[in-house]
Amino acid sequence: MQTTIETDIKQVETMNKQISKKAIDAIISELTEGCQIFAPVVQDGIKLYKQIESPEQINWGHGNCHRSLKELFFPITEPVFSFRQTRKGIQIETPGNHNKKRVVIGARPCDCNALSITDKVFKWDYEDELYLSFRENTLIIGVSCIQPEPFCFCTALNLSPFDETGSDILLTETGKGIYHANIITEKGVALFERFKEHFTEASPDQSARKDAMLKDIVSKMPAPFPMQDIKTWLDKNFDHPVWEEIALGCIGCGTCTYLCPTCHCFDITDESRGYAGERLRNWDSCAFGHFTQMPAHQPRPLQWQRFRQRVMHKFKYYIDRFSRLACVGCGRCRSLCPAGKDTVEVIQTLQKQIDLAETGPKTNKKG
Ligand code: SF4
Ligand code: SF4
Repeated sequence: MQTTIETDIKQVETMNKQISKKAIDAIISELTEGCQIFAPVVQDGIKLYKQIESPEQINWGHGNCHRSLKELFFPITEPVFSFRQTRKGIQIETPGNHNKKRVVIGARPCDCNALSITDKVFKWDYEDELYLSFRENTLIIGVSCIQPEPFCFCTALNLSPFDETGSDILLTETGKGIYHANIITEKGVALFERFKEHFTEASPDQSARKDAMLKDIVSKMPAPFPMQDIKTWLDKNFDHPVWEEIALGCIGCGTCTYLCPTCHCFDITDESRGYAGERLRNWDSCAFGHFTQMPAHQPRPLQWQRFRQRVMHKFKYYIDRFSRLACVGCGRCRSLCPAGKDTVEVIQTLQKQIDLAETGPKTNKKG
């Protein structure tokens, strides 16, 4: 029977505390006893969210993980159930790892915020027990970006490198080894209550320093795009000829969708050998030609149509359905597309179309 899982984030009035790196390490060490801890770890030169055994394994360096936080809640490949045919009939077993308590530490605000986007999808017309169980059993300690990367553009979407959305506790390093701690949700309060002795009150000086840091960082990042205007243009221009130009060069590799913290398409396959097997959920991508292939029809036969779908989904369809953008400006798609396709340039091209529509095409005076 389908169970209803309570995953609504219970916000509390944010508490402002201070904590040292040494105290954070002590808390993590104690938490490893009873729950799984995940954090950014560098392996073979690539930074990924991995389960850790001790705080020394955490990479506290600037920049985001190569793949996003979504894979801890919506894994690349995930068993939905396993099956075995016996003389008595078919036995079904559901995965047992979804109810373990977990803590994520070191997630960036864009990745945490992206979960508030995928949350809406996974409990919209159907409550996805696999995803929602992971969400319910995971506490997230985010870490503000005090040194955003060149490809980051959260500020262009009116988000912030210190955004609290999606974190239960948000840490901001305001001095060497000293963190400002925002306690944001009930889960965050529960952790704070358990480890109270490690926290002190944030001084007004520290809070002021944090605000000044944010102001300085934001001043160096992209200014907000007129996303409402972009949405209005998208509403009316599904068939505009500029789409072919915008998508030029896309090879349909799917990298942008796999790395994106908000993309959530999947496929279901049954893998079996003999009398036993598994039903698996695997990431899929609207960039792939076979994604929409049906026996007698292919609604998106050309790559530019698939590229348009992705842009439309991020900046129009998701807003239509859930009243917010499906992009957090993490910049992964910009920095890692093998064809150099750049989401910011796409938005700028759309902006040019709006400007052109307002001013009219420039005419050659001689012609
Ligand atoms: S936009 Fe880039 S990353 Fe995305 S499918 Fe096309 S080529 Fe691959
Ligand atoms: S579309 Fe690109 S920038 Fe936006 S959330 Fe996805 S990967 Fe990040």
